[in-house]
Amino acid sequence: ASGTQPALELRGLSKSFAGVKALSDVSFALKRGETLSLIGPNGSGKTTLVNLVTGVIRPDAGAVYLNGEAITGDVPHLVARRGIARTFQNIRLFETMSVADNVRLAALDVADDPRSRAFELLAELGLSDVAQTPAGELSYGRRRRVEIARAVALAPSVLLLDEPTAGMNETESADLADIITRLKARFGLSLLVIEHDQAFVRNLSDRVLVLNQGELIAGGTADEVRRNSQVIEAYLGR
Ligand code: ADP
Repeated sequence: ASGTQPALELRGLSKSFAGVKALSDVSFALKRGETLSLIGPNGSGKTTLVNLVTGVIRPDAGAVYLNGEAITGDVPHLVARRGIARTFQNIRLFETMSVADNVRLAALDVADDPRSRAFELLAELGLSDVAQTPAGELSYGRRRRVEIARAVALAPSVLLLDEPTAGMNETESADLADIITRLKARFGLSLLVIEHDQAFVRNLSDRVLVLNQGELIAGGTADEVRRNSQVIEAYLGR
């Protein structure tokens, strides 16, 4: 793959549900090493976009490329294997299994030494002290970090974070932004973040895209987007 090829590219993605256009002709590219955030009011199509990219649903039109290869229509576990790891709005962990085992399981297929990879990730995410604790016993913020460790254990090229700060307070969100920035540099990730929290988005993003009623209506730095009148209207109009 050439250095200028996007990590992830969406071309003309459209999806309707029973005649309702959830996503209309959406195209953008996530550059290698970039952190791109996607924001938009409720019902703007964010979940539909995540589901299309990760193979949960198929588009009516358009295509998704990962490092230049079409992955459109691949099923979720194949998309993950090809290099897009994700976290979920509602955290999904093996609750009775230890934190270390949750992460080690994800590393089994990709690391020569899954155990050391798991412990390296736990250290990176500030979770070493709870390595042997059942995941279900951790605080919400820490469970979110375990989920991120597990996603990165898959050695993805693209990490997709679906509302990573949902349910977190301001301090937890700020800590998470720092952790994610470190992880990204350490593991050479390209990041697609779906998020509501404006402060978090501003902290983390190289670029922000705005969805409204299934269409991309703006893109730029967090500050540019925040001042954009179409964006202001989209949020106030709800
Ligand atoms: P967001 O995640 O930004 O809140 P969604 O992608 O969930 O937006 O929804 C976009 C639009 O598509 C909404 O009008 C929603 O009602 C509709 N929609 C999403 N999924 C379905 C579905 N499975 N069946 C019917 N309508 C859906």
